Amino acid sequence: MSQAFLPLCRPAIDDNDIQAVTDVLRSGWITTGPKSAELENQVQQYTQTSHVVSLSSASAGMHLVLLALGVGPGDEVITPSLTWVSTVNLITLLGAKPVFVDVDQDTLMTTAELIEPLITDKTKAIVPVHYSGASLDLDALYALGDKHGIAIVEDAAHALGTEYQGRPIGKTGTCLFSLHAIKNVTTAEGGILTTHDAKLAERVRRLKFHGLGVDAFDRETQGRAPQAEVIEPGFKYNMPDICAVLALGQLERIEQITAKRTELVTYYRQQLAQLDGFTPLAIPEYDHKHCWHLMIVRVDPSQTGINRDDLIAALKVRGIGAGIHFKAIHTQKYYRENYASLFGEINPNLSNTERNSQQICSLPLFPSMELTDIDRVIAAIKDIVGQ
Ligand SMILES: *Cc1c(COP(=O)(O)O)cnc(C)c1O
Repeated sequence: MSQAFLPLCRPAIDDNDIQAVTDVLRSGWITTGPKSAELENQVQQYTQTSHVVSLSSASAGMHLVLLALGVGPGDEVITPSLTWVSTVNLITLLGAKPVFVDVDQDTLMTTAELIEPLITDKTKAIVPVHYSGASLDLDALYALGDKHGIAIVEDAAHALGTEYQGRPIGKTGTCLFSLHAIKNVTTAEGGILTTHDAKLAERVRRLKFHGLGVDAFDRETQGRAPQAEVIEPGFKYNMPDICAVLALGQLERIEQITAKRTELVTYYRQQLAQLDGFTPLAIPEYDHKHCWHLMIVRVDPSQTGINRDDLIAALKVRGIGAGIHFKAIHTQKYYRENYASLFGEINPNLSNTERNSQQICSLPLFPSMELTDIDRVIAAIKDIVGQ
């Protein structure tokens, strides 16, 4: 008998979360309202930041933050190529130039040393990525930003629950968290901005709802003030309450969620250590708490006899889901074909990005997994490569 498919990811939603969504559906107020406000308060306390804005996605939030920073034609924004495509697409759509920075070969995170040589008088912002649940080396990055007077926007899509030197990610500066279905805390689709910059928060709050002078929900009137008017043209990037409510319970359980992920990853890493040519990411040495968003292993074909793409296909045949986080953006069709004509020469020093882009494979990791599921993944890998 074949076993049930083991997916790459399953959200950590329990019966109380489902009940909470049902309650919102019955309440008569399903879009942005009291529950998204409650989520903002909860995230504010958890991350110890000053201002929190709930959004329809982290990508939407990145769009508004880049806009608010004035990113436009003639500007450059430095960000890794080894990340999700959203930030680079947004920089491009805003008419600015994405400048790709390489990453550390084993943590897949960029560093102040790699970024500094790429800074020019056109650099408007730096968007580094907390990778797979580990923390960036924030002190070095913010020191660099301060030295050159350039804004840092942390892509914290993987890092709700991560800490750096005892501080939750979100406490230090401006961050965008994703609550997409695969992320450690999810609203199905959703994003959160955290910042100490009151003006930025106010602008994003306005731009996320058509540029109106007030947010969608007014506590006194249980609705939007009918006389609200457009202060500037804006977008439609608000988070509905039926989504927001889903995250409230997960955020209360976040320590348990992280603990379970840590237990699973510890076991994975022990098991993978017995195999040749399957190397997990390195854990940064500076003081941080990892939230283990992804279980990434590098598949070195010279040792395993199989390349990453064939491994993923072979795992699928055996009922196991795997993924790629991420395919280097500069190697994808649009950027491969258009970067040079749009922006000029691409940074030639992206070798760590390119090698890892070929080799990284994300294995199933989610809190309702059991250690026996990991045994199954390891047995499948051994079977595939004949080790
Ligand atoms: C998921 C993700 C995003 C985008 O988040 P959305 O909420 O889906 O817009 C951005 N950056 C990284 C690194 C991600 O993994």
